[in-house]
Amino acid sequence: MTELNSTELNSAGLIRLSAAQLAAKLAAREVTSVEVTQAYLDRIAAVDGQVNAFLHVNTEEALAVAAEVDAIRAAGGAAAEELHELAGVPIAVKDLIVTIGQPTTAGSRILEGWHSPYDATVIKKLRAAKMPILGKTNLDEFAMGSSTEHSAYGPTRNPWDLDRIPGGSGGGSAAAVAAFEAPLALGTDTGGSIRQPGAVTGTVGMKPTYGAVSRYGAIAMASSLDQIGPVSRTVLDSALLQEVIGGHDPFDSTSLTDPFDNLVAAARTGNVTGMKIGIIKELHGEGYQAGVENRFNESLELLKEAGAEIVEVSCPNFKYALGAYYLIMPSEVSSNLAKFDGVRFGMRVLPKDGPLTIERVMAATRAAGFGAEVKRRIILGTYALSAGYYDAYYGSAQKVRTLIQRDFDAAFAQADVLISPTAPTTAFKLGEKLDDPLAMYLNDVATIPANMAGIPGLSLPGGLADEDGLPVGIQLLAPAREDARLYRVGAVLESLLEEKWGGPLLAQAPALGSTSTTAGGSN
Ligand code: GLN
Repeated sequence: MTELNSTELNSAGLIRLSAAQLAAKLAAREVTSVEVTQAYLDRIAAVDGQVNAFLHVNTEEALAVAAEVDAIRAAGGAAAEELHELAGVPIAVKDLIVTIGQPTTAGSRILEGWHSPYDATVIKKLRAAKMPILGKTNLDEFAMGSSTEHSAYGPTRNPWDLDRIPGGSGGGSAAAVAAFEAPLALGTDTGGSIRQPGAVTGTVGMKPTYGAVSRYGAIAMASSLDQIGPVSRTVLDSALLQEVIGGHDPFDSTSLTDPFDNLVAAARTGNVTGMKIGIIKELHGEGYQAGVENRFNESLELLKEAGAEIVEVSCPNFKYALGAYYLIMPSEVSSNLAKFDGVRFGMRVLPKDGPLTIERVMAATRAAGFGAEVKRRIILGTYALSAGYYDAYYGSAQKVRTLIQRDFDAAFAQADVLISPTAPTTAFKLGEKLDDPLAMYLNDVATIPANMAGIPGLSLPGGLADEDGLPVGIQLLAPAREDARLYRVGAVLESLLEEKWGGPLLAQAPALGSTSTTAGGSN
């Protein structure tokens, strides 16, 4: 990204810097963390009434952490030198991740007003790095959805067009970053909830390898698929954040022991020369919007010009991925959400009449506390797991999962990295798919395979679709544990695309808070 000159370091300029740029300015003491954090809090106050990205704003604590970082830097010496590179850079957190001192709702009425007694591991790591936490972001209830319209607290709106969805389930995190309400955010991705919101808001979203980032303290949706990851405006920023939150955690039994400490270096030394990049035949073309397809083809051309070899691979079992996901995911959901029983957490509703038994309290609480989409999935999952149907549904879906993993193995024997559009369309209108669950589910057709196989996936902005001028996402996939490879390729593609557009894509987003459509970006 182009640097701003120092005369532009007012709050409007500050909020448009990348996290890496902010970190450099903080280290050089050109700005203070209090100035940066206050600029973001002011931005939230100015525009979040329109966007609804935040469910909770953590003003006091964020400013206190910022002041602490500033004091350490001002004092100098060993303590200042030991500060993490991102110390003082603020961040927003998806409200599925538990935090001491702030409410955690999971976007559900059932957890309204609930406070976690402990911090998620990723939150502990943000605190250790002294990154001020700006607040908690909106999401589809328990991360189930592709539009953030299933939140019990109202939908988040897409900063590119306030009548459109910001993707989901992590629409709040993506919209916050796209609307310059935060430089960084945390998301969770079970079937695409980091990457698809990234695609439709023109931001970067990374689902790390399953187990690369601890899930301890992320309220579980489907445990064999869930993964926490970074949301940012640049590829380098995601790499910086993944290095903060990643690493082994004894509190998560699926946590990998690999250090994943080569990510920032990979993002800084982007290179694709001699690399084989595989187009997944089944993940573009028919069913994909023409403008999405055009931007996808353009990215392929750029990568080819930069020295990569483009090959085509086929993953024939991907056509079953969505079907298998909608058996495995709800099965795990039905089990994971059994703990919201009106006894242990949050809301308790007593039955209006009749005997006061535990079963009846549970039923009344769950009937009042869960929204329609959550109930749909619990019922679906309970059915798929029931005696007599288990083998036919859950068992078959697990076999499909193995076939998807084998398709990836075969594809990665032919290519170093795979590429596809992240989502079949650009952001659709609020309400457009709300009454049609199957149409909603189709948004994740290109993102779900990565969760089924546990491999990493990165979405980055690929330009604006010709027909509607809305952001298009490009998805890169690598074998498990090869997260660094995604950052290496992603950084190259990002810089080639920025060269083509004359700067970051988000600079072309319309300004919020006015009806003007002039560029909102300043660099
Ligand atoms: N949109 C997908 C779903 O509704 C993915 C959700 C997610 O990744 N949390 O299941």
